[in-house]
Amino acid sequence: MSSGPVIGVDAGGTKLLAGVVDEDLTVGHSVRRLWSGGDRAEVLDTMVEAVSEARAGSGARAVGFGIPALLDFDAGVSISSVHLPLADLAFRDLMTERLGVPVYVDNDANLAALAEQRVGAARGASNVVLLTLGTGIGSGIVLDGHLFRGASGAGAEIGHMTIDHHGPPCQGNCPGRGCLEVMASGTAIAREGTDAGRRHPESALGRLVAQRGVVTGEEVAELALTGDDAACSVMAAAGRSLGAGLASVVNIFEPEVIVIGGGAAAAGDLLLDPAREVVAQRALRPSRDTVRIVPAALGEEAGMVGAGLFALADGRI
Ligand SMILES: [Zn+2]
Repeated sequence: MSSGPVIGVDAGGTKLLAGVVDEDLTVGHSVRRLWSGGDRAEVLDTMVEAVSEARAGSGARAVGFGIPALLDFDAGVSISSVHLPLADLAFRDLMTERLGVPVYVDNDANLAALAEQRVGAARGASNVVLLTLGTGIGSGIVLDGHLFRGASGAGAEIGHMTIDHHGPPCQGNCPGRGCLEVMASGTAIAREGTDAGRRHPESALGRLVAQRGVVTGEEVAELALTGDDAACSVMAAAGRSLGAGLASVVNIFEPEVIVIGGGAAAAGDLLLDPAREVVAQRALRPSRDTVRIVPAALGEEAGMVGAGLFALADGRI
């Protein structure tokens, strides 16, 4: 393995974080950019410009990218992306040429899972599943200390596990119905929160919906934490759907730890306790008794730290 710091980049659906990641995994100078809904050229230019700024004077020898895309991992090609215009793009080769240093690319949630397993909420565990509840549901699976990516790199999409096969159509380019993502993502919580606010105009949630028309998943989580009954009910329903999905995850992988992150996870136990209850009721012994379902520890730095870890290992992880 080479030595020296690297740049870790988390290019999420709404923002980009790029930072210097040292060999001891401390994050040095970092920069942040918000996407303004630009086309592919603008998104790539923003990535190059942000990495160049983070890298200036750091001596960074490689760049790791986590991007919200399904990948051909060995080829470094982005096959499809719901949240950024990166479909059918030879991302690694293009970025290697533009940045002039070795570039490694993986799915953003895979790298967040790696970070939580190595230095975050699941530190010390070898079998870990991470779900981030955001616009969609990102997920990563670490088995025996290694990322599980599937045959080509497009696997580990737990957000698209069917929870209700007669359920509503999934979002983006997923042809499924009743996927976990439709039931428990930040988008789903926002949708249900907006409905609940209209049904309960006297609640704090109802007043916010009346004022603004819609609410976000984070706002529903925040109101739940203040004790608003309508918001608590929405979080509990999402938690039960999440638990139904996690019961299958527990049965299939027998993880030691399941880490839940993303903005809507700020509701903490108001979301996780209903999920834990459903897992306890529906998953098999002994896995249901040993699994720990915990909130993420690294916050928004998880993807950046994971991308740094990945680049530090020269993409072999
Ligand atoms: Zn789906």
